[in-house]
Amino acid sequence: MSKAQEILARSTVIDCHLDLLPDLEAKHRQGRKNVLLEDYMEGFKKGGVDVIVSSIFVDSDLLPEMAQKKALAQIAAFYEELDTCGGQFVLATCAEDIEKARRENKLAIMLAFEGAEPLSGDPSLLRVFYALGVRILGLCWSRSNWAADGSRFFDFDYQGYGLTEGGRELVRQAEQLGMVIDISHTNEKTFWDVVEASHQPIIATHSCARALSDTPRNLSDDQIRAIAKLGGVIGINGASLVARFADPAGATVSDLAAHMEYESRLTSPDILAVGLDQCDRLESSSTMQKEEFRCVFDVIPTHEGLEGLVSALLEKGMSEDQISGALGGNLMRVLRRVLG
Ligand SMILES: [Zn+2]
Repeated sequence: MSKAQEILARSTVIDCHLDLLPDLEAKHRQGRKNVLLEDYMEGFKKGGVDVIVSSIFVDSDLLPEMAQKKALAQIAAFYEELDTCGGQFVLATCAEDIEKARRENKLAIMLAFEGAEPLSGDPSLLRVFYALGVRILGLCWSRSNWAADGSRFFDFDYQGYGLTEGGRELVRQAEQLGMVIDISHTNEKTFWDVVEASHQPIIATHSCARALSDTPRNLSDDQIRAIAKLGGVIGINGASLVARFADPAGATVSDLAAHMEYESRLTSPDILAVGLDQCDRLESSSTMQKEEFRCVFDVIPTHEGLEGLVSALLEKGMSEDQISGALGGNLMRVLRRVLG
């Protein structure tokens, strides 16, 4: 076993952003079943992955009327897979669920909104999705919704708006329920409104540092410092366009390690996490129009590639404990505190 593999084996490894549920739902519509076991499980095992945070995401052409129905269909597809998986993976709603799953050698899946559209403008519906197991609330994708406004990938001049009145109430409800707020995709105004409104750590599940990859989709130094101050984490995004905006074709795992080293030096290694945002494999769900915006290719297309990322971090002189924290320990700290 390589040193990188050893670190992966003994760490709680979390990929805090994968569009798993939209893919399950799309493939169920094509008549498939057991998609998670057949298409994903082997890669997760080879990469030593313990936890996947799956998005619930609705394509723009279904907005706003079909958002709630589509989100529920995605959750239904996931529960259907839970029924037929023979206990190989579980829904995780707290840190203890993750620890238990790891002891039992099961994969834990945590559910996350990537955009509040499924609530149809009504913050009080958040508790319904909480009851279904959703624990992470991404306020918006890179577009505008009733609660908040998102950053654009290419429009550097776009200002937009921040949290709306409904969005503020949504953040309040999320804190009351014990959900983690995800600020990936928010624009600057929304970001700072959330920082002002938050009493808990906030996270960016899949974002990079703007200093190294200059797109409004990524985080400025001030934003990274603000996340650190609240005790949150930033998952490194492995989509080439996000990791290396000026020259996506040249993106490699070294870019990802460089972002992590940069954020770590700017604040502390406690801020690091991994949210690979893989999308190459999602081609079958071709209606997912967000792909055309964000992903030229996956720098780490399957989770086996995590070994290369760990090796790159070792080469940068990061300690084994720091790397273990980046792989999942730091996010576990946030989940323990916020989810209870
Ligand atoms: Zn995203």
